[in-house]
This record gives sequence, C-alpha cells and structure tokens, in this order.
Amino acid sequence: MKRRDFIAALGTAAVASHLPLWGAPEAPSSGRITLLHTNDTHSHIEPFGPGNGPISGLGGVARRATLVRQLRQQLGSLLLLDAGDTFQGTPYFNRYKGRLDYQLMRMLGYDAGTLGNHDFDNGVGPLVEAMEAMEELKHSNPPLAFVNCNFDFRGAPALGGRVRPYLIRNFPGLRVGITGVGVDFTGLVAPKNHEGVIWKDPYASLGPVVARLREVDKVDLVVVLSHLGYDMKGFAPDDLQLPGRVPGIDAIIGGHSHTFLNAPTRVPQAKGETLIFQVGYGGVNLGRLDFAIARGTLKSASGASLPVLGA
Ligand SMILES: [Zn+2]
Repeated sequence: MKRRDFIAALGTAAVASHLPLWGAPEAPSSGRITLLHTNDTHSHIEPFGPGNGPISGLGGVARRATLVRQLRQQLGSLLLLDAGDTFQGTPYFNRYKGRLDYQLMRMLGYDAGTLGNHDFDNGVGPLVEAMEAMEELKHSNPPLAFVNCNFDFRGAPALGGRVRPYLIRNFPGLRVGITGVGVDFTGLVAPKNHEGVIWKDPYASLGPVVARLREVDKVDLVVVLSHLGYDMKGFAPDDLQLPGRVPGIDAIIGGHSHTFLNAPTRVPQAKGETLIFQVGYGGVNLGRLDFAIARGTLKSASGASLPVLGA
C-alpha cells in the first residue's frame, strides 16, 4: 500500500471507530498528591517565644524544615506552597529585606508561592532584589516559582518576568495546575511601592486561567494560592466567594486574613467540591491537603493543620 493510501485508510478506520487518529488513547489519570502549605509567615524565622498565648513555642523555619523532610520521606508526590506575605514582622526583615526569607524557602524546597501586600512593603525594586538573591543562592533545589494572574506587571517588567500567571507540574499519573491571586493594593500598599503593577479583579482574572488549565492543559487538580483573605464579609473578593464565582477550582490555599482553620472548609460544586484552607500566620502551622485521583476522577480530598513543634 502506498503511504498516501495507507493514511487515507487509517483515517477512515479512525473516524469509523471514533478513536484518535494517531496512537492509543491516553490512560486516565490515577494517583495521589499532597499539598503542604504556609501563609503569612511574616519573617518569623525563629519559633514564637513565651508570652504569645496559644502560639507560644510554636513555629520556626528549622522545625518546619524538619517536618517537611519527614513528610517527604513518608509520602510520594508532594508540593510545598505558600500564599504570600512572606515579608515583614521581625527584625530579620528589617535587616535582610526579604532575601533571607526567600532563600530559606528555596532551601526548604518550596515549589511555588504568591505575592501578598506586605511583600511590596519596600517597593518593587527590593522585592525583585530578594527574588534575585534567592535565584543566585548556590543550592541543589531549584528557585521557587511565583504565580499570580490578577496583577498587570507590564509597567514593572523586572518583577513581571519573575511571576508567571500559572504553573503546571507533572507527577506520576497526574498533572497539577497552580495559579495565584493577590489583594487590592488600595489602602494596603502605598502607590509608590507597587509602581508599575496594576491590580485587576481576581474573579475575572482567574476565570480564563482555570478554564485553560482544565480544558487545554487537561490538569487533574487546580490549585489557587490566594492572598485575598478568607471572609471579607462582602466588602472585597475573598476565598469563601471564590468557588461560586470561578468554577473548577479544587483547592484554595489562602492567606492575608491570618485565619486559623483546623480543617479545610468544603464548598460543594456542580461537579465535586472546592477545599479552602488557611493555617494562621507566622509559620506556627503547616497545612496539609491530600487528594486521590482514580481513572480521571477526584476520589477523595482531606486536610489537616499540623502544628510546627520542637523535637
Ligand atoms: Zn499577613
């Protein structure tokens, strides 16, 4: 058979049987993944000392590193994520301007983070310098990626070049899409500190990104790193309203409101549900969300807030 005839015959056969023209159909996704996460760590490198009420003695980056290492040994596929406001809160920030915070995040193996309002506290230039210091660190872990889809960075290309609208990570049997949204600068960030960066409506910005991740990139799990806040009581966009405004999100990892949740809030969706989680602030807790996917369908989702304790 001539090549042209062969292709024609194959085309007819494929149409007749509704099979893809080339190759076998892709096997449906099956696998498990754990998301570990922090929010609003606010330069708390050391544990909280006595006199801090219920969070006395909790937190500290070294202990968080130990906990993450233990979980990495126990678990298979894992992502380490942060929902922003890494900067501001202790003398470490005043001294190191966020460079230390981002370098430590790289050393812990964070995969992705997003930007909170306080990450702009010294302005766009120093924020970029902190990212550069993290990139230049000599370490076997890759630099962490920053995601945000509702800031227009066209007037701040050095920052825009370091923040992507979304990220896709492949794991055995499944694919995860990660995006991020930030809070309105008005009243929170001085105009000179976010010069060149324009805030846009997070619902309108997320809609097409989530749709693209689902329909074009065919991810199995959509994760949003949100620095909007858990419940803004109708005064501003927030995590509680997000699932009703943007369908198709599996997990919202929140920040900004410093909300201590013991377990994720579950919001039913037409198809499945959205889990919203946030674990306080200052690195006193590490959030954990576990997802299991079988034959292309989300089979289970659960979560817990793990206190960051000493040995
Ligand atoms: Zn904060």
